[in-house]
Amino acid sequence: MSSSDKKLLLIQPSQIDSDGNIKKDKTSFLPRLALPQIAALTPDNYKITIIDEYLEDIDFNSDADLIGISATTPQAPRAYQISKEFRYRGKKVILGGMHASLIPEEAKYHADSIIIGEAENLWDKVLEDFENNNLKPVYKNSPDNLDILHIPSPRLDKLKLDKYEFPFRPVQTTRGCPHNCDYCSVTNFFGKSYRYRSIDDIVREVQGLDSKYVMFVDDNIAANPKRAKQLFKAITPLKINWTSQSTMAVAYDEELLELAQESGCANLMMGLESISAQSLATVNKSFNKVDDYHFMVERLHKHNITVLAFMIFGFDTDDETIFERTAKFTEDLKIDFPVYWILTPLPGTPFYHRMEAEGRIIERDWSKYDCTNVVFKPKLMSPETLQEGYYYACKRGYSFKNMMKKLTYPTGFSIVKHLWEFIPYFIRQHYKFNRKLLPHNLFLNDYQEDKS
Ligand code: SF4
Repeated sequence: MSSSDKKLLLIQPSQIDSDGNIKKDKTSFLPRLALPQIAALTPDNYKITIIDEYLEDIDFNSDADLIGISATTPQAPRAYQISKEFRYRGKKVILGGMHASLIPEEAKYHADSIIIGEAENLWDKVLEDFENNNLKPVYKNSPDNLDILHIPSPRLDKLKLDKYEFPFRPVQTTRGCPHNCDYCSVTNFFGKSYRYRSIDDIVREVQGLDSKYVMFVDDNIAANPKRAKQLFKAITPLKINWTSQSTMAVAYDEELLELAQESGCANLMMGLESISAQSLATVNKSFNKVDDYHFMVERLHKHNITVLAFMIFGFDTDDETIFERTAKFTEDLKIDFPVYWILTPLPGTPFYHRMEAEGRIIERDWSKYDCTNVVFKPKLMSPETLQEGYYYACKRGYSFKNMMKKLTYPTGFSIVKHLWEFIPYFIRQHYKFNRKLLPHNLFLNDYQEDKS
């Protein structure tokens, strides 16, 4: 089989909702890098199309020669449906991404081949085998074998960028995280060793973007402060606004924060996860120091950096008072953007294995594993209380009153100047959570007080 004029269709599946429908939206938050990265690894003699199914429909009668699907856990059931449709039509399907890598024994029944781990170092071989009609059932990579120093820049030009809500463009500068939080799948996929791309390559990539807004999609951009400082110095002349994820360790290094600010850091996203040191200890996250949260927020605000804090409900030490206490805590702390999630046992993680061993998994539909649904039995409350408490905190966090209050924070000017584009997102979240009914009215009184 000649490789000339081959057509490759790359698909990011949507999710199946509780009524069995495919979730669709007119706009999406930020494109994911997985498929543009595959496109960058693909030789020029392939014509590549990328479909983000949240935003576009899939043509199952496509004349593509090869189908590639990359799926996270909540997308997995839809990925399997898509794969089945294409295989029924005689197409070869390769399945990769986080879910196939975490439970390959399930994924391999749903595709001609699966890729476990990152695609670099493997993709050439996959295409060669495809062209020789000799695809293997499994291709496996290990982060220990993959140097990412000079990986190619992702082909963002293959995406319909105008369909994404924010002007932020994703750029990855590191992979991996030195921590090992029990519920997190990052270490399984990208490894515990912290790997870097070349700073020169990153500068070139950022210069080539069509936007001055960049989201560095690293899991922990400042895990190595020395390298982070080099990166921040190198991007300062580019005059961009950027955001990324970091642990609170960043707050203890004043020089690092100064360099971040000078280089255009408008926001840092932090997995604070809980206001309880006891809860953090149950998931191997005691490096978050609850007593220092206030100091951390003040430090970041001093540098005009807004804080987006991820908070999780459902730890074994959380009872039904946790929702109100957490919401109030984030308000008192003046966290600019609190974002709430429900603790979720993602397959392959230590937390999943523990919940499985304790017989506490109550939902097997992967579509619900998106951190907004209760899929396990909490220890100190019912699943219904956890679900309702989550809605309560989201409603309160996205209430107009709370959103407006942020403009009075020390970072209010920064929000208006750099992050104005977030506002439509928060308004949509407001309406989304206000449509949610609270079946048992458990927290309704608190919420009504908050609205008053
Ligand atoms: S939750 Fe964050 S800090 Fe913990 S292992 Fe995952 S990426 Fe690292």
